Amino acid sequence: MKLLLHPSLQAISRRLPRSRRVNLVFRLSALILLLSVLEAFYHSQVSLSIPRPAEHHNLDEPFSIGCQDVSKLVTRPRESAVLVMLARNSELKEARKTVENVEERFNKWFNYPVLFLNNEPWSEEFVRGMKEVVSGEVRFEVIPEGIWGPTAGLTEEVVGEYLRKQKEEGVYKGEIEGYHHMCRFYSGEFYNLDALKEYKYYWRLEPGVSYGCSLTYDPFVMMADRGKKYGYTVALWEEPNTCPSLFRTVDEFRTQNNIPMHPNWKAMIDEETNWLLKPAPIRWLLGKVLRREHYDIKGEKWNLCHYWSNFEIADLDFFRGEQYQKLFRHLDKTGGFYRERWGDAPIHSLAVHLLLEAKEVHHFSDVGYYHEPFWQCPQNAKGKQLLDNEMIGKAPKGMGEEQEGGHGCRCECGLGKKGDWRRRNNRGICLEKLQRPAAYVRPSWWDLRRRRWPYSVGFDEEGRYVV
Ligand code: GDP
Ligand code: MN
Repeated sequence: MKLLLHPSLQAISRRLPRSRRVNLVFRLSALILLLSVLEAFYHSQVSLSIPRPAEHHNLDEPFSIGCQDVSKLVTRPRESAVLVMLARNSELKEARKTVENVEERFNKWFNYPVLFLNNEPWSEEFVRGMKEVVSGEVRFEVIPEGIWGPTAGLTEEVVGEYLRKQKEEGVYKGEIEGYHHMCRFYSGEFYNLDALKEYKYYWRLEPGVSYGCSLTYDPFVMMADRGKKYGYTVALWEEPNTCPSLFRTVDEFRTQNNIPMHPNWKAMIDEETNWLLKPAPIRWLLGKVLRREHYDIKGEKWNLCHYWSNFEIADLDFFRGEQYQKLFRHLDKTGGFYRERWGDAPIHSLAVHLLLEAKEVHHFSDVGYYHEPFWQCPQNAKGKQLLDNEMIGKAPKGMGEEQEGGHGCRCECGLGKKGDWRRRNNRGICLEKLQRPAAYVRPSWWDLRRRRWPYSVGFDEEGRYVV
């Protein structure tokens, strides 16, 4: 024990009888333990705490509760916006299904242009097939050479080795080179396409997704009116083995560029669980020494939450702006798009939480969305379905009941799994965490320990669905 003590303490301890010595060691250890717990508590509950917005000051109100009189809204000017779909020629059937659905539920009233992107030339069949279903302008673009991966400087052999390793490790879609290209493309290069230059907003579509409700207002105009720069429907956990070093790399960018840990960034940090086990020396060990996966250098852990980017309505100026593009280049340089399988979803989400304010992010809680295997399906707003509005037309046969507190317009749930009427089939925990900077009502650490998520849209303790 002497070895562990400072020489001055050793001198004191030599002068003490043995029982007093043991007592001193015991007291010192207890003091260190107490200080560690206090430090850990302060760190998690004060340093990482997120200030609440003023009471009843909702930073992210729904854009619409129920249906709007679309005949009045279509006479207003449009925003500069485009619906974009990256697709392959082989996906004609699924792409058509999506576009027919979006036309029926939204675009037949607003006639925004639809832009199709491909890394290969479009087949005549695809072009013909899509022209039949788009109500506004339709464009078919081929992504220019050199933009569709891989990262500059990575040889074929290196990429091949990375893919083999990811296959061995069972990384989801890690062995598919084209998938890495797609993720890298959507993470950065996409935003600099000439084809997008003339637009301010985009709505990302994917082949095979479905929209379960009608959108009877112009979401782009609402984004502009409310100063929103990023809109999403579903928030989930990322598969941990697709991006072990991503959080560290983004945080490196944050520190290099002196970006403070503002509330939106703090919402990305997993501070609620096991705070007791994370006093400063342990954080230092986790971050600096062990360099554990999903930890930054200071030992903060990412909660792995991200917005699912197969649906996005967002501001192109944010993503093609200097800061975001600089972040993308920083990430790309590390080779992580190929060495690991970084998805565009966690990259967009980490960037949104790093570079935007909470009030600039919007949850489209009124949009019914299904992409295999997850969905969000709002309940229909009571008394706000405008069933005799001529322009909206006939209600769908499968339209759900109207409910107090519902947001939806003529939503038809059960599109995912027939007969599954839940509002979402993914737990609301990430939705909860990521909205925290925008929410006045949020759970205390005690609620979280008890697995109570008062603000979430998900399941309650008994596994019942909560609106
Ligand atoms: P997941 O939703 O992450 O499982 O991935 P998807 O297979 O749905 O791909 C995401 C989007 O990228 C879809 O719009 C696909 O059509 C598109 N995509 C993926 N790989 C390629 C590719 O190699 N070429 C083209 N043109 N599109 C691709
Ligand atoms: Mn998809």
